[in-house]
Amino acid sequence: MFNCPHCNNPGISNLLKAVLSPGLHATCKICGKLSSVRYSSWLAAMIPGSILMLTALFVRAESLEWILNIVGVILMIAFPFLFTPLRKENEDPPQSGRIDRPAD
Ligand SMILES: [Zn+2]
Repeated sequence: MFNCPHCNNPGISNLLKAVLSPGLHATCKICGKLSSVRYSSWLAAMIPGSILMLTALFVRAESLEWILNIVGVILMIAFPFLFTPLRKENEDPPQSGRIDRPAD
């Protein structure tokens, strides 16, 4: 379990943290508030695995290509899981489409 940035209690499950990416929110099981990961830190954590998978496109040996792809996928799951910190998500986002009219 991961600590929620709102209540600082272990309210975010490991599975939820593993699939968390920018645009997806995790709901704390204890306080119910939303948290997410910052896009820049998530992207930085994806770089090592991406490099391995790109390298796999240019190797000739099929076994090496498989190894690079498999390790690349593992890193693309493990690095964001381990190294991207959770941050508080705005609880009440601005309502879109709402027109504010001046009060009389
Ligand atoms: Zn919480």
